[in-house]
Amino acid sequence: MRKVRGFRSALLAHFDRTRRNFPWRFDRTPYRVLVSEFMLQQTRASTVLAYYEPWLRRFPDWNALAGASTEEVLLAWKGLGYYARARNLHRTAAIVRDRYQGCLPRSPAVLMTLPGVGEYTAGAVGSIAFGLCAPAVDGNVRRVLARLLDAERPSASRLREEATRLLDPARPGDFNEAMMELGATVCTPRAPRCGDCPVARHCEARKEGTVAHRPAPRPPRKIPRTDYATAVPVDPQGRSLLVKRPETGLLAGMWEFPAVELLPESKRPGGSGGGSGLEDSNVETAALKRLAELGVSGKMAGRLAPVRHAFTHLRAVYHPVVVRCGEQALRQLHLPKKQAVRADPHDLDSRALPVAQQKIGARLAAWLRDCCQVATRGPYD
Ligand code: SF4
Repeated sequence: MRKVRGFRSALLAHFDRTRRNFPWRFDRTPYRVLVSEFMLQQTRASTVLAYYEPWLRRFPDWNALAGASTEEVLLAWKGLGYYARARNLHRTAAIVRDRYQGCLPRSPAVLMTLPGVGEYTAGAVGSIAFGLCAPAVDGNVRRVLARLLDAERPSASRLREEATRLLDPARPGDFNEAMMELGATVCTPRAPRCGDCPVARHCEARKEGTVAHRPAPRPPRKIPRTDYATAVPVDPQGRSLLVKRPETGLLAGMWEFPAVELLPESKRPGGSGGGSGLEDSNVETAALKRLAELGVSGKMAGRLAPVRHAFTHLRAVYHPVVVRCGEQALRQLHLPKKQAVRADPHDLDSRALPVAQQKIGARLAAWLRDCCQVATRGPYD
């Protein structure tokens, strides 16, 4: 036990001296803590900095968030990625307002019933916002513990057990943050700074000389690639068309240029090697067909450079095809009004558009500018 006490005091003293002054560390109300924890999932603190305070100005409390539309929420989250987090936070706000009278439940077990709240988030919120003795094991803490234990692949239960044993009951929230901070700034994946580490004398991997091998790397996952033919219609005013994605699944409820999935790589001729195996004519035909389904006809006018985006489970490659349409084409769609909008590619900021679609919009805007430079009367005159 003396050793554990020594570990806690060394870690917390280091944290008190060196902690980074993130805005989410100044005000520990449950709402703010939960917002920061959602934003920080799989995202660097330096990225979250640009979003946290604007979000709080826009949605200062549970009621403001619960009362907002999905579109407003996705727009405020735009660029932060993993949009399911925004939707889950929105749904959580409604549950807190309607079921818990505006007070986030304290118990980690109850917190885990809320959308998007897993064991880690429940532990972080329970300890930081409510001072409960709940461990919080994220990726950084997992690495630190594996090294402290000199364990190659510690199981989740062993990590939880060790995190619970070490947790300081007097300052559980600070302790959890100190462990995360240690992993983010000292005990980093590559080149950990063991010479500066406040808990080096408690570290088994350091004693054994195995730091570089703890934890053992996970075998690389093969992430499948999916190609999309993306139709980018343009009317004579330079307006394009965005359609809304389904309300469930990947990028739910966000806007995109109309797209259709092409055959998976493994099923395309010559598709298993380095080349895409895609023929230009197939991409263009698929894009025109997708537009025809929406009731839009037009002529192929050009191709934009493909846009790649890596999701956790998927490498997406979008092949944008610019299609020239007539004056009325984008007004007579086979879609309800709320599912499609005409949009100026120079002004897409007001839409909840995923990063890859923003890039397509930027490429379209550049393409339109180039067209206007070569044809002084405009691209379609
Ligand atoms: Fe990590 Fe090195 Fe500290 Fe061990 S001594 S916890 S490996 S930084």
